Amino acid sequence: MASLALVTGANRGIGLAIAHALKADGHSVVAAYRSGPAPEGLQSVLMDVTSTQSVDEAFDSIEAQWGIPEIIVANAGITKDGLVMRMLDSDFESVIDANLTGAFRVARRASMGLLKLKRGRLIFVGSVVAATGAAGQVNYAASKSGLVGMARSFAREIGSRGITSNVIAPGFVETDMTSKLDEKRRKEISSSIPLGRFCSASEIADVVRFIASPEAAYITGAVIPVDGGLGMGH
Ligand code: NDP
Repeated sequence: MASLALVTGANRGIGLAIAHALKADGHSVVAAYRSGPAPEGLQSVLMDVTSTQSVDEAFDSIEAQWGIPEIIVANAGITKDGLVMRMLDSDFESVIDANLTGAFRVARRASMGLLKLKRGRLIFVGSVVAATGAAGQVNYAASKSGLVGMARSFAREIGSRGITSNVIAPGFVETDMTSKLDEKRRKEISSSIPLGRFCSASEIADVVRFIASPEAAYITGAVIPVDGGLGMGH
Protein backbone atom coordinates (compact mmCIF):
# COMPACT_ATOMS: atom_id res chain seq x y z
CA MET A 1 0.00 0.00 0.00
CA ALA A 2 1.48 3.35 -1.02
CA SER A 3 1.74 5.93 1.73
CA LEU A 4 3.27 9.36 2.28
CA ALA A 5 6.68 8.96 3.92
CA LEU A 6 8.93 11.52 5.56
CA VAL A 7 12.65 10.90 6.08
CA THR A 8 14.80 13.35 8.05
CA GLY A 9 18.44 13.97 7.18
CA ALA A 10 17.64 12.66 3.72
CA ASN A 11 20.08 14.63 1.58
CA ARG A 12 22.90 12.09 2.00
CA GLY A 13 24.00 8.84 3.60
CA ILE A 14 21.51 6.45 5.14
CA GLY A 15 18.63 8.94 4.96
CA LEU A 16 19.00 9.40 1.20
CA ALA A 17 19.16 5.62 0.69
CA ILE A 18 15.99 5.18 2.76
CA ALA A 19 14.18 7.91 0.83
CA HIS A 20 15.03 6.28 -2.52
CA ALA A 21 14.13 2.80 -1.27
CA LEU A 22 10.71 3.93 -0.02
CA LYS A 23 10.13 5.72 -3.32
CA ALA A 24 11.07 2.55 -5.20
CA ASP A 25 8.38 0.74 -3.17
CA GLY A 26 5.83 3.17 -4.55
CA HIS A 27 5.52 5.49 -1.57
CA SER A 28 5.31 9.23 -2.02
CA VAL A 29 8.44 10.43 -0.21
CA VAL A 30 9.34 13.78 1.31
CA ALA A 31 13.05 14.14 1.95
CA ALA A 32 13.73 16.56 4.80
CA TYR A 33 17.11 18.24 4.56
CA ARG A 34 18.89 20.81 6.70
CA SER A 35 21.55 22.16 4.35
CA GLY A 36 22.96 22.01 0.87
CA PRO A 37 20.95 21.51 -2.27
CA ALA A 38 17.68 19.61 -2.00
CA PRO A 39 18.13 15.95 -2.91
CA GLU A 40 17.44 15.35 -6.59
CA GLY A 41 14.38 13.45 -7.76
CA LEU A 42 12.52 13.69 -4.46
CA GLN A 43 9.92 16.00 -2.97
CA SER A 44 11.72 17.88 -0.26
CA VAL A 45 11.36 20.25 2.64
CA LEU A 46 13.84 22.12 4.82
CA MET A 47 14.00 20.88 8.41
CA ASP A 48 16.51 21.36 11.20
CA VAL A 49 15.57 18.87 13.90
CA THR A 50 17.24 20.96 16.61
CA SER A 51 14.53 23.61 16.17
CA THR A 52 10.93 22.93 17.19
CA GLN A 53 9.86 25.82 14.97
CA SER A 54 11.65 24.36 11.96
CA VAL A 55 10.15 20.90 12.56
CA ASP A 56 6.63 22.25 13.02
CA GLU A 57 6.87 24.54 9.97
CA ALA A 58 8.15 21.66 7.84
CA PHE A 59 5.19 19.48 8.89
CA ASP A 60 2.76 22.35 8.20
CA SER A 61 4.25 22.70 4.73
CA ILE A 62 4.16 18.94 4.05
CA GLU A 63 0.55 18.66 5.17
CA ALA A 64 -0.47 21.65 3.04
CA GLN A 65 1.25 20.28 -0.08
CA TRP A 66 1.02 16.51 0.14
CA GLY A 67 -1.05 15.45 3.17
CA ILE A 68 -0.28 13.73 6.47
CA PRO A 69 2.93 11.69 6.49
CA GLU A 70 2.19 8.14 7.56
CA ILE A 71 5.70 6.66 7.57
CA ILE A 72 8.11 8.74 9.61
CA VAL A 73 11.81 7.92 9.58
CA ALA A 74 13.74 9.91 12.20
CA ASN A 75 17.20 9.46 10.74
CA ALA A 76 19.02 12.80 11.17
CA GLY A 77 21.97 12.46 13.49
CA ILE A 78 25.45 13.67 14.34
CA THR A 79 28.54 12.53 16.21
CA LYS A 80 30.92 14.58 18.33
CA ASP A 81 33.30 11.90 19.54
CA GLY A 82 35.90 12.40 22.23
CA LEU A 83 37.25 10.85 25.37
CA VAL A 84 35.03 11.55 28.33
CA MET A 85 37.59 13.56 30.29
CA ARG A 86 37.79 15.99 27.38
CA MET A 87 34.12 16.00 26.44
CA LEU A 88 32.57 19.42 26.90
CA ASP A 89 28.99 19.95 28.09
CA SER A 90 28.30 21.41 24.65
CA ASP A 91 29.60 18.23 22.93
CA PHE A 92 27.24 16.15 25.04
CA GLU A 93 24.26 18.46 24.79
CA SER A 94 24.44 19.08 21.05
CA VAL A 95 24.48 15.34 20.26
CA ILE A 96 21.53 14.70 22.58
CA ASP A 97 19.71 17.67 21.07
CA ALA A 98 20.12 16.49 17.47
CA ASN A 99 19.83 12.72 17.91
CA LEU A 100 17.36 12.31 20.77
CA THR A 101 15.45 15.55 21.27
CA GLY A 102 15.42 16.03 17.50
CA ALA A 103 13.78 12.65 16.98
CA PHE A 104 11.32 13.52 19.77
CA ARG A 105 10.38 16.82 18.08
CA VAL A 106 9.73 14.97 14.82
CA ALA A 107 7.79 12.06 16.35
CA ARG A 108 5.70 14.34 18.58
CA ARG A 109 4.62 16.51 15.64
CA ALA A 110 4.11 13.45 13.43
CA SER A 111 1.89 11.82 16.06
CA MET A 112 -0.71 14.59 15.65
CA GLY A 113 -1.34 13.39 12.11
CA LEU A 114 -0.96 9.70 12.85
CA LEU A 115 -3.58 9.87 15.60
CA LYS A 116 -6.00 11.39 13.08
CA LEU A 117 -5.20 8.69 10.51
CA LYS A 118 -5.29 5.92 13.12
CA ARG A 119 -2.37 4.22 11.45
CA GLY A 120 1.31 4.81 10.82
CA ARG A 121 4.91 3.91 11.37
CA LEU A 122 7.45 5.67 13.58
CA ILE A 123 10.91 4.42 12.65
CA PHE A 124 13.91 5.70 14.60
CA VAL A 125 17.46 5.20 13.34
CA GLY A 126 19.43 4.16 16.41
CA SER A 127 22.76 2.41 16.62
CA VAL A 128 24.37 -0.78 17.85
CA VAL A 129 26.33 1.34 20.35
CA ALA A 130 23.08 1.96 22.26
CA ALA A 131 23.46 -1.62 23.51
CA THR A 132 27.21 -2.09 23.47
CA GLY A 133 28.47 1.37 24.42
CA ALA A 134 31.52 2.77 22.65
CA ALA A 135 34.69 4.36 23.97
CA GLY A 136 34.78 7.97 22.80
CA GLN A 137 31.03 8.05 22.21
CA VAL A 138 29.49 8.62 25.64
CA ASN A 139 27.28 11.36 24.18
CA TYR A 140 26.31 9.45 21.03
CA ALA A 141 25.61 6.13 22.82
CA ALA A 142 23.47 7.97 25.40
CA SER A 143 21.46 9.63 22.63
CA LYS A 144 20.90 6.34 20.81
CA SER A 145 19.94 4.33 23.90
CA GLY A 146 17.55 7.15 24.80
CA LEU A 147 15.84 6.52 21.48
CA VAL A 148 15.03 2.96 22.56
CA GLY A 149 13.11 4.04 25.67
CA MET A 150 11.43 6.79 23.68
CA ALA A 151 10.37 4.51 20.82
CA ARG A 152 8.96 1.97 23.26
CA SER A 153 7.04 4.69 25.10
CA PHE A 154 5.52 5.86 21.81
CA ALA A 155 4.68 2.22 21.10
CA ARG A 156 2.76 1.95 24.37
CA GLU A 157 1.16 5.39 24.23
CA ILE A 158 -0.23 5.30 20.69
CA GLY A 159 -0.08 1.62 19.73
CA SER A 160 -3.82 1.15 20.27
CA ARG A 161 -4.38 3.52 17.30
CA GLY A 162 -2.58 1.20 14.89
CA ILE A 163 0.71 3.09 15.04
CA THR A 164 3.94 1.11 15.37
CA SER A 165 7.17 2.52 16.77
CA ASN A 166 10.49 0.78 16.24
CA VAL A 167 14.22 1.37 16.24
CA ILE A 168 16.53 0.19 13.47
CA ALA A 169 19.99 -0.25 14.96
CA PRO A 170 22.76 -0.14 12.34
CA GLY A 171 26.33 -1.17 12.99
CA PHE A 172 29.06 0.47 10.90
CA VAL A 173 27.69 1.82 7.63
CA GLU A 174 29.64 3.25 4.69
CA THR A 175 28.68 6.96 4.84
CA ASP A 176 30.31 10.34 5.50
CA MET A 177 29.93 9.59 9.22
CA THR A 178 32.35 6.66 9.07
CA SER A 179 34.58 8.04 6.29
CA LYS A 180 36.58 9.88 8.99
CA LEU A 181 37.97 6.54 10.27
CA ASP A 182 41.51 5.81 9.13
CA GLU A 183 42.38 2.56 7.34
CA LYS A 184 43.91 0.91 10.43
CA ARG A 185 40.79 1.57 12.52
CA ARG A 186 38.52 0.36 9.71
CA LYS A 187 40.43 -2.93 9.57
CA GLU A 188 40.19 -3.33 13.36
CA ILE A 189 36.45 -2.66 13.25
CA SER A 190 35.86 -4.99 10.30
CA SER A 191 37.68 -7.81 12.05
CA SER A 192 35.41 -7.40 15.09
CA ILE A 193 32.25 -7.70 12.98
CA PRO A 194 31.12 -11.32 12.52
CA LEU A 195 30.26 -10.64 8.88
CA GLY A 196 33.68 -9.01 8.46
CA ARG A 197 32.63 -5.85 6.66
CA PHE A 198 30.82 -2.53 6.93
CA CYS A 199 27.18 -2.27 5.85
CA SER A 200 25.92 -0.34 2.83
CA ALA A 201 23.30 2.37 3.33
CA SER A 202 20.94 0.41 1.08
CA GLU A 203 21.11 -2.59 3.44
CA ILE A 204 19.74 -0.35 6.22
CA ALA A 205 17.13 1.01 3.82
CA ASP A 206 15.96 -2.52 2.99
CA VAL A 207 15.07 -3.13 6.64
CA VAL A 208 13.31 0.22 6.91
CA ARG A 209 11.22 -0.60 3.84
CA PHE A 210 10.12 -3.85 5.55
CA ILE A 211 9.21 -2.11 8.82
CA ALA A 212 7.27 0.45 6.75
CA SER A 213 5.38 -2.29 4.91
CA PRO A 214 1.96 -3.80 5.78
CA GLU A 215 3.77 -7.11 6.49
CA ALA A 216 5.36 -5.51 9.57
CA ALA A 217 2.06 -4.34 11.07
CA TYR A 218 2.47 -6.45 14.22
CA ILE A 219 6.05 -5.38 15.03
CA THR A 220 6.31 -2.59 17.57
CA GLY A 221 8.62 -1.57 20.41
CA ALA A 222 11.38 -3.56 18.73
CA VAL A 223 15.03 -2.79 18.21
CA ILE A 224 16.02 -4.35 14.92
CA PRO A 225 19.76 -4.83 14.57
CA VAL A 226 21.37 -4.44 11.14
CA ASP A 227 24.95 -4.71 12.26
CA GLY A 228 26.60 -7.78 10.77
CA GLY A 229 26.38 -9.49 14.15
CA LEU A 230 28.32 -6.84 16.07
CA GLY A 231 25.69 -6.54 18.80
CA MET A 232 24.68 -10.21 18.67
CA GLY A 233 21.01 -9.40 18.46
CA HIS A 234 20.86 -6.62 21.05
P1 NDP B 1 25.72 11.35 7.64
O1 NDP B 1 26.66 12.13 8.48
O2 NDP B 1 26.16 10.81 6.33
O3 NDP B 1 24.36 12.18 7.42
C1 NDP B 1 23.71 12.74 8.51
C2 NDP B 1 22.43 13.35 8.04
O4 NDP B 1 21.77 13.94 9.17
C3 NDP B 1 22.69 14.48 7.04
O5 NDP B 1 21.65 14.52 6.10
C4 NDP B 1 22.64 15.71 7.95
O6 NDP B 1 22.32 16.91 7.28
C5 NDP B 1 21.50 15.30 8.87
N1 NDP B 1 21.47 16.13 10.06
C6 NDP B 1 22.41 16.27 11.01
N2 NDP B 1 22.00 17.17 11.92
C7 NDP B 1 20.77 17.57 11.53
C8 NDP B 1 19.84 18.50 12.06
N3 NDP B 1 20.08 19.22 13.17
N4 NDP B 1 18.66 18.67 11.41
C9 NDP B 1 18.39 17.97 10.28
N5 NDP B 1 19.25 17.12 9.71
C10 NDP B 1 20.42 16.92 10.35
O7 NDP B 1 25.24 10.17 8.59
P2 NDP B 1 24.67 8.71 8.28
O8 NDP B 1 23.87 8.72 7.05
O9 NDP B 1 25.78 7.77 8.45
O10 NDP B 1 23.73 8.55 9.56
C11 NDP B 1 22.32 8.63 9.51
C12 NDP B 1 21.79 8.11 10.83
O11 NDP B 1 22.26 6.78 11.02
C13 NDP B 1 22.25 8.90 12.03
O12 NDP B 1 21.21 9.00 12.98
C14 NDP B 1 23.38 8.06 12.58
O13 NDP B 1 23.59 8.27 13.95
C15 NDP B 1 22.87 6.66 12.29
N6 NDP B 1 23.90 5.65 12.26
C16 NDP B 1 24.94 5.72 11.37
C17 NDP B 1 25.90 4.73 11.38
C18 NDP B 1 27.06 4.72 10.45
O14 NDP B 1 27.95 3.86 10.61
N7 NDP B 1 27.13 5.59 9.44
C19 NDP B 1 25.84 3.62 12.34
C20 NDP B 1 24.70 3.66 13.23
C21 NDP B 1 23.78 4.63 13.16
P3 NDP B 1 23.49 17.89 6.71
O15 NDP B 1 23.85 17.35 5.37
O16 NDP B 1 22.83 19.21 6.71
O17 NDP B 1 24.63 17.81 7.69
